[in-house]
Amino acid sequence: MALSMLQKMVLDILREPPTRLINFCIASSVAINPTSFNRVHGEIANGRIDVISAGITQSGKLIREDAWFSRDERRIYINEKLAQSAQFGFNTSALILHECVHVYTFLTNPSLSLGDDEATAFLTQCLYGLMKNPNYRQGVDSINDPKTRQIFSAAINIIDTWGLLSRTTLSLSKQAVASLYLALSNHDQYRDVYVPMAA
Ligand SMILES: [Zn+2]
Repeated sequence: MALSMLQKMVLDILREPPTRLINFCIASSVAINPTSFNRVHGEIANGRIDVISAGITQSGKLIREDAWFSRDERRIYINEKLAQSAQFGFNTSALILHECVHVYTFLTNPSLSLGDDEATAFLTQCLYGLMKNPNYRQGVDSINDPKTRQIFSAAINIIDTWGLLSRTTLSLSKQAVASLYLALSNHDQYRDVYVPMAA
């Protein structure tokens, strides 16, 4: 099967050095490590998970989101305004890696709670972003929507507090990640997230 340019660009992100340094899990939920990304790489390379760019003339969701994973269609959508360039910026790559985490949880633990799924995806996204470019931190500070900024700030705080950037592997307790569940639950898009009790 011939892979599209877009598929190859996503496969490249999964094999990048920063991606391969990510190694953590939240409590007993899905572990994210090189094996996880190898699995997603294989699914995309074999065409079992599709990657396409989406235009602004399609459904409302296509207009709002920059990238998302559709479980029903087994397909990662990337907004065509981002997919046009021959190379993704680090913010876009980080976002696509977030969607690849959703692919992995869909394949391995489809009943994972929304909170665990999103917390794992946002921590992965921020870990990649911080390793890829030190300016990622400033970028998060300048996110306009306060509820979205709160999610990213919480994720980066957790990364700093637990030293995720300098550890080879780490299992985070639910309490350690509670601020991220709380930030998610305050956001309209993730209001169903269950916030675990503080220790
Ligand atoms: Zn997500």
